[in-house]
Amino acid sequence: MKQLAGKKGKRKEEDWIEDLPPMYLERRKQRKRKKLLRGLLRAAVFVAVLAAVWFWNGFAVDIRLAGDSEVTLEYGEDYTDPGAQARFSGNLLQRTPLEVAVDVNGVVDTAHLGTYTLTYTARHKLDLRILKLTFTDTATRTVHVVDTQPPLLQLITKPDHSTPPGQAYEEEGFTAVDNYDGDITHLVERVEKEGTVLYKVTDSSGNANEILRQIRYSDLVTPELTLLGDAHVRIPQWGSYTEPGFSAVDNVDGDITGRVTVSGSVNTDVVGTYLLEYSVADSYNNTVTATRTVTVEKVTPNGKVIYLTFDDGPSAHTQRLLDILNKYNVKATFFVVKTGYLHLLSGMAAAGHTVAIHSASHQYARVYSSEDAFFTDLREMQSIIRNYTGKTVTLLRFPGGSSNTISRNYSNGIMTRLTTRIKQMGYRYFDWNVDSQDAGNATSAADVYNNVVNGIGNRNVSVVLQHDTEGFSVEAVDSIIRWGLSKGYTFLPLNAGSPACEHKVAN
Ligand code: ZN
Repeated sequence: MKQLAGKKGKRKEEDWIEDLPPMYLERRKQRKRKKLLRGLLRAAVFVAVLAAVWFWNGFAVDIRLAGDSEVTLEYGEDYTDPGAQARFSGNLLQRTPLEVAVDVNGVVDTAHLGTYTLTYTARHKLDLRILKLTFTDTATRTVHVVDTQPPLLQLITKPDHSTPPGQAYEEEGFTAVDNYDGDITHLVERVEKEGTVLYKVTDSSGNANEILRQIRYSDLVTPELTLLGDAHVRIPQWGSYTEPGFSAVDNVDGDITGRVTVSGSVNTDVVGTYLLEYSVADSYNNTVTATRTVTVEKVTPNGKVIYLTFDDGPSAHTQRLLDILNKYNVKATFFVVKTGYLHLLSGMAAAGHTVAIHSASHQYARVYSSEDAFFTDLREMQSIIRNYTGKTVTLLRFPGGSSNTISRNYSNGIMTRLTTRIKQMGYRYFDWNVDSQDAGNATSAADVYNNVVNGIGNRNVSVVLQHDTEGFSVEAVDSIIRWGLSKGYTFLPLNAGSPACEHKVAN
């Protein structure tokens, strides 16, 4: 319907134009034609401009630097230019890029510090017959030649040069040489103070260096070395030597006690005379020496006896104890029980120690339940000892000692009966009069040592109680023996003829 209406309308207009005069129609046609031409011309110009722009933009020379565009070079290093590459490319006429030569302008003078610029230029000429075109691109590289090395400072030291204390220092000389500036000795600044001279220098690039000189003062005075204590010391064998000390003072260096060296040593195990040499040197090598004589003297016996006794072993610590005793040839007494270390008994006896009865079970409830039970336990231990040592021992120590009160819990008055009966049977029992407290308050070798040494005091006969089941107690034995030997005590093992040591029976 619409289409029909349109055709109807058009036909209607044509009808209307055909009615106009012919001259008027001709002019109208001409106007239409001109309008069409103008439109075509505009379009052509527009297309031509577009083509020219596209054509022109497509052509270009492009430089790329190899390496960095800014380079820092240490003075003295060679400069090798990494170069640059350039390519010419275009969109229609030059689809494949073309390598173009690059000209480099500028130099890097590595012999002089400074900043140098290298300019890279690439040019390509395009000959289109009607048109000759030149395309260009440039790039630059900056090269800094720098000096970061400090100058070298050296002091001249004359071998025989020295300054008397209190006098001004006479300069021995110095040099300053820089890798770039050359000799810059004249630029050195000196600061003299407190026995030193500080030399400083800076090169033209601001690199600084410094060096310190210790002024050598002449000193012909030797230090003074003083020995504290006696120059001749006497100590008993097995005693301990304690250095009484010394001091050293120098006129220039002051207190130089810390520089004193001591050579020689004292072996208090061996009787003899020992020399200790003390030596000290000041900073000018003025040396002084002193000598101390230490005489280790044989000890005169003081007539007093110490019986070291060890209960409840043998144990894992017993072999160590035997080694210590053996070192001093000291004999002790072991009141043994039935432990896992019974194999040590034969060696103990063979070494001259007394192996005596303590208890097979060491269980108070069992041992003190009756006299029969006590003797059964005693005979078991006696038999074990006989097996290992070949001897029938009649020396014993009651578990808990003869004064124990724990036995009351099991049998009233049993200690009174046992102590009487055992003697009638030909046995001897020993208690103690010095308690190491190793089963009590003592917890260290030092505790044990102090308790034993204090306990012995001035006693003529000391029976010392220790337990070789305690490692720390065994550890104290070495120093207990050394103390005793150095004081003149005699260490003996208990035997049938030893003086009695019996507590007051309390049950
Ligand atoms: Zn015991």
